[in-house]
Amino acid sequence: MDPFRYERAADTAAAVATIDASPGAKFLGGGTNLVDLMRLGVERPDLLVDVTRLGGDTIDDIADGGLRIGAAVRNSDLAADPRVCTRYPMLAQSLLSGASGQLRNLATTGGNLLQRTRCPYFQDVTKPCNKREPGTGCPAREGEHRNLAILGHSQHCVATHPSDMAVALAALDASVHVVGPAGKRAIPVVDLHRLPGDEPERDTMLERGELIVAVELPALAFAERSAYRKVRERASFSFALVSVAAALDVADGIVHDARIAFGGLAHKPWRAFAAEEALRGEPAGEAAFAAAADAELTQAQPLRDNAYKVALAKATLVQTLLELLP
Ligand SMILES: Cc1cc2nc3c(=O)[nH]c(=O)nc-3n(C[C@H](O)[C@H](O)[C@H](O)COP(=O)(O)OP(=O)(O)OC[C@H]3O[C@@H](n4cnc5c(N)ncnc54)[C@H](O)[C@@H]3O)c2cc1C
Ligand code: SF4
Repeated sequence: MDPFRYERAADTAAAVATIDASPGAKFLGGGTNLVDLMRLGVERPDLLVDVTRLGGDTIDDIADGGLRIGAAVRNSDLAADPRVCTRYPMLAQSLLSGASGQLRNLATTGGNLLQRTRCPYFQDVTKPCNKREPGTGCPAREGEHRNLAILGHSQHCVATHPSDMAVALAALDASVHVVGPAGKRAIPVVDLHRLPGDEPERDTMLERGELIVAVELPALAFAERSAYRKVRERASFSFALVSVAAALDVADGIVHDARIAFGGLAHKPWRAFAAEEALRGEPAGEAAFAAAADAELTQAQPLRDNAYKVALAKATLVQTLLELLP
């Protein structure tokens, strides 16, 4: 690992100013992804600015009945919060499906959102990779891509986004609040992460030096009936092949509303707007759920070895929705 300096920022403004003034610097949350990537030589910052002690470690009720989650709130604390467990069970379940207890005790809300892809070529500095070194190529396209994207990929990158929590936040219409050199702004989680296009090196819409300070969850009464289902190669310590975050509002056997997002299928959490639209007004049941999955997955462009994900995503969505029926 290259030598680096470590600083503890005094406040948000100082953290942003330090990163803005130091091109080789990075924010440090729990370090569970960034430090691993430094060990591998994938990330090589010369300065780490610790942002875990800036006061953003609380979960607060907000006026509309939603929650404001500080960026430094640990994944374990968020998953255990009684308001999250009752009002947004899909979020608690998504967190508990990720990593391990020890990692969740360290991992922060801000860092979780910005963790980087698990594409094996990205993590191996002896291999070319457009995301790590723009212009070097994408060996995954013709190589090992069984676990990679079927939606929204490009010639330049077929990686998937790894965060489970981000999938639930995308389904719940959460927004990310940031402070940067140009001031404050809020970004819907559905717009935070990018599709790769011809700039796969850019994971998100954040500008250099923007610090995530909080995530806001709007009130959504029917999210009390929600779930996160993750399919993976083994029961723990494994990233999603396919995951589904879903909330379902059914009355008198008719779907009034739904919120659905997929994980493990794209370079970003994939909000399934077409599936949601297909469900509204339909009789709640397997036929409508399967049709909704088809409406979304018609956009899929599987690679040579990952067509199984289309059927798996459909089955996972149908099963998740069936379990949410009253
Ligand atoms: C063995 C293993 C298994 C795992 N399994 C899963 C899994 O199944 N599902 C899953 O979702 N995750 C999994 N993870 C990943 C884990 O969830 C992430 O490593 C963790 O959430 C990252 O949070 P952190 O606070 O440690 O981030 P860090 O590693 O500190 O930072 C990650 C990135 O975010 C940036 N950053 C941090 N905080 C901020 C901020 N406030 N504003 C702006 N930028 C910031 C950093 O500069 C860095 O680029 C696993 C990790 C390991 C090691
Ligand atoms: S899929 Fe993306 S991250 Fe993986 S090798 Fe290709 S460019 Fe790199």
